[in-house]
Amino acid sequence: MQRREVYINEDFKIITLITGTLKQNCFIIKHLNSSEIILIDPGDDEDSILKIIKEEGNLLKHVYLTHAHYDHVGAVKKIVDHYNIPYYIHSADLKLLKRASLYSISMENRDIPFSDNYQFYDTEMILWVDKRIEIIPVPGHTPGSVAIKIDDLIFSGDLILMNSDDITKLPGHNVDQSKKSIEFLVQNVQEDSIFFLGHGKNAKFSVITNHLSKLNK
Ligand SMILES: [Zn+2]
Repeated sequence: MQRREVYINEDFKIITLITGTLKQNCFIIKHLNSSEIILIDPGDDEDSILKIIKEEGNLLKHVYLTHAHYDHVGAVKKIVDHYNIPYYIHSADLKLLKRASLYSISMENRDIPFSDNYQFYDTEMILWVDKRIEIIPVPGHTPGSVAIKIDDLIFSGDLILMNSDDITKLPGHNVDQSKKSIEFLVQNVQEDSIFFLGHGKNAKFSVITNHLSKLNK
């Protein structure tokens, strides 16, 4: 299996690194004009993530979490300590964040260090370089799940999972609320959007709406 995938458009280079036992997608997003980097969901394999950030110019600015399941947060502490920057999470997932280590020990016998250098998303819009990053609350997979929208790129965490039974069994998952949030999300993004999922390959808008209609059957 290829552990690394690269997507490039006119503004960004997005490196997807597949990390950990649950094959979680960590996204390293580089703005091509400025070389600034943001990171979404550093789940595991901190050394590989740090190596890629350095190779790409080392200008890491922000770390965002789509939600606080252990497979998405395992490398957070090492990275935010290294760059001495905070990371962002929705306040409704703080409980899960604080329990991430408990879950990872019970599921994988792996300890996850906790960083208290977190901040809550306190706005729905974050300015970064010449872009507006939209933080869209999409509760369902966890109470504090968010989708992160940058132009037509949608980082939807584990809200939309194509075939991952193990992951929907993690604590917090609410099927009906998830469906409502997927509906809300597809109504609020452009039809040429590309969805970068927390696990598995990225997907076009039409793939997501097909998936949604299956869920609704
Ligand atoms: Zn999850």
